[in-house]
Amino acid sequence: MPTYDYLCDGCGHGFELFQKVDEKLKKTCPECGKKQLRRLIGAGGGIIFKGSGFYETDYRSSDYKKRQKEDSAPSPKDTEKKSDTTKPAKSKDGSTS
Ligand SMILES: [Zn+2]
Repeated sequence: MPTYDYLCDGCGHGFELFQKVDEKLKKTCPECGKKQLRRLIGAGGGIIFKGSGFYETDYRSSDYKKRQKEDSAPSPKDTEKKSDTTKPAKSKDGSTS
């Protein structure tokens, strides 16, 4: 369910609202009761700077760290393999010349 940002032109009250895509736009401000609500369509797209936004970036960064750890783990094996393949290549070279 997408989150929509609303801003009231009447009183300046801003809030987030979870709405289904096919739900009608909310127009009446819950604060002042004026029908001056404006839906702010994400200029920043997925950038939500309140609540869940922080958690999302948290998850992402921890996931990143995990991947980095996993990346650094197999790298020594990789160099072993590389040196293994380098040895026969060298001997081949030697026999050619
Ligand atoms: Zn208002």
